[in-house]
Amino acid sequence: MKALVYDKNIEGSIKLCEREMPEITDPKDAIVKVTLSTICTSDLHIKKGFVPRANNNVILGHEFVGEVVAVGEEVKKLSVGDRVSANCETFCGECYFCKRGFINNCIKGGWELGCRIDGCQAEYVRVPYADNGLTKLPDGVSYEEALFVGDILSSGYFGAEMCDIQKGDVVAVIGSGPVGLCAMMCAKYLGAGTIIAIDIDETRLKIARENRLADYVFNPCRCNIEEEVKKLTENRGADGVIECAGTGETFEMSWKIARPNAVVGVVAMYEENLTLPLPEMYGKNLTFKTGGVDAVHCEKLVNLIKEKKISTDILITQRFKLSEIQEAYKLFEQKPDGCLKVVIEKTTITT
Ligand SMILES: [Zn+2]
Ligand SMILES: [Zn+2]
Repeated sequence: MKALVYDKNIEGSIKLCEREMPEITDPKDAIVKVTLSTICTSDLHIKKGFVPRANNNVILGHEFVGEVVAVGEEVKKLSVGDRVSANCETFCGECYFCKRGFINNCIKGGWELGCRIDGCQAEYVRVPYADNGLTKLPDGVSYEEALFVGDILSSGYFGAEMCDIQKGDVVAVIGSGPVGLCAMMCAKYLGAGTIIAIDIDETRLKIARENRLADYVFNPCRCNIEEEVKKLTENRGADGVIECAGTGETFEMSWKIARPNAVVGVVAMYEENLTLPLPEMYGKNLTFKTGGVDAVHCEKLVNLIKEKKISTDILITQRFKLSEIQEAYKLFEQKPDGCLKVVIEKTTITT
């Protein structure tokens, strides 16, 4: 089969090549025929060499949907022919952390697919602990609709959930990229009354506003965000802040625009250490929650999609075939105006 492989020893670090079909190696495995997959910023991090734990020669990709074509003997919830969306995290479901819902910290898993073990930017993929890692799609939910459930939609939900949103709350979301937009959808679903989208990219702000994901949009290059948020909140600040951008400036903004006693939920991944200026924020009594997504709500998110309460359709902005995936990487790296998510479609490849 064709697969996109990470090879740190070649220029560009990725190559489309021929690989063996995956096989069941553990009774809890399933093999999935990939119908759609995507490229995630984390894939770019591997490509650029920022992820030391990534194995050389691994097939990249961890966000996908597909059809189950084989199951191991101990797989209970899935059968051949099931349509599924995948969780970006591999988790055993039985360890100390899994039992508490902290699947990101599973002692036997975590971010494995497309990093430690072969991922989904291929025709087929082996999924360990398939009963946990795959969510069956009900009739009425298409592959396309469910594509982002296990990664960016889960991340957006994770960020919104961290903020303990109360009905009517003002929630500010810093970063209006794919995860930020998902966080806005989820914050609204969880009861936020007003959503403020913040980004330096006008096109992304326009997308947030035109799709009614945000009530107000602000660009820090054009206004003072702290003042704007205060104007909207009788000088208090936002009840919850979800930081999805990941720079030193946006981190500072996140706690500055939060009202006293707010929760700042940090979903973003930073590329450097940042300082928490405790004297400056003393008395503001903030709660910070941070981290890598615990993607534990996949079934719930699929149902919300089915009930049309959440839709991620607007995030798909470009499409490529698997045979063109290197072009897709190039485009995704350059991030032209309006590019949110690139979808890789499975097609029979003739070379
Ligand atoms: Zn990802
Ligand atoms: Zn576990």
